[in-house]
Amino acid sequence: MIKKMANTYLFQGNPRYYDMDTYLATHSYIYWRCPNYKDKIQIGDKAILWRAGKKAGMIAVGVIVEIPTPASKIQFPELLGQRFWTSDEMDVDDIKIGIKIKDVRLTYDESSTSREHFKLNPIVSKHRIITNPTGTVFKLEGAVADAMFLDWNNTSDLEIGESTSSEIFDSEGKYRYVLHKRRERSSALRKAKVKHFLTTNDFIHCELCRVNLNEKYPSSLSEGYIEVHHINPISTLAEHTPTHIDDLILLCPNCHRMVHRTKDAEKNLEDLKVWFLDK
Ligand SMILES: [Zn+2]
Ligand SMILES: [Zn+2]
Repeated sequence: MIKKMANTYLFQGNPRYYDMDTYLATHSYIYWRCPNYKDKIQIGDKAILWRAGKKAGMIAVGVIVEIPTPASKIQFPELLGQRFWTSDEMDVDDIKIGIKIKDVRLTYDESSTSREHFKLNPIVSKHRIITNPTGTVFKLEGAVADAMFLDWNNTSDLEIGESTSSEIFDSEGKYRYVLHKRRERSSALRKAKVKHFLTTNDFIHCELCRVNLNEKYPSSLSEGYIEVHHINPISTLAEHTPTHIDDLILLCPNCHRMVHRTKDAEKNLEDLKVWFLDK
């Protein structure tokens, strides 16, 4: 049997209408509105997520795992929550496509996989996403897709700094770790957690050793500094589970480092909680 070659589709989102940055920082499964190509897109086809607007460019790569389906019949309807939308353009008869996210880069860097960067690429620059970027779903010819994936894979992940995307694809463990870090670095979640913490605490402190960094260091440096740790390891979460505030704990850099000192962060955290009980 001849195996059909996977096609690549580019999905463009406008941050003015949909907060895709926050969504991608906290989820690894996304539904996209798919008004065209609905009879063409197949499971296993590749997906490129593209941010429109001032910081335009490629921000994630993934694979199609749910073929175009009416919104009322998709597998994980809870992921269509309205909270990421700034307008209510969603409709139950909208055709949605399910994409499993493999790698995300949310930090804008003009020299990396931005629209500005691809304008200089002899192949990509001729594509509609550069010349006339109106629409939501674009099919990419093989050469265009190859050129884009090449640049994506050649750029080290500036946001993570510890890994390149090819390594992420190769090693499930590393991918999970990177995903863990990405969730912890989501500024929207961080802000929400800190705000929530201050409803029951007078000041920000480490939830393990209780250090107040603002007291220990000059406030010019420590003001507002605290790290956020995600309690549930990614591996025990369902593919699509969004992050909740109760899944997060505020830690000073030392405690956070200790929690991640060995692979079993969940156990380390529990042990350290006990350790600090009688300190
Ligand atoms: Zn601490
Ligand atoms: Zn952590």
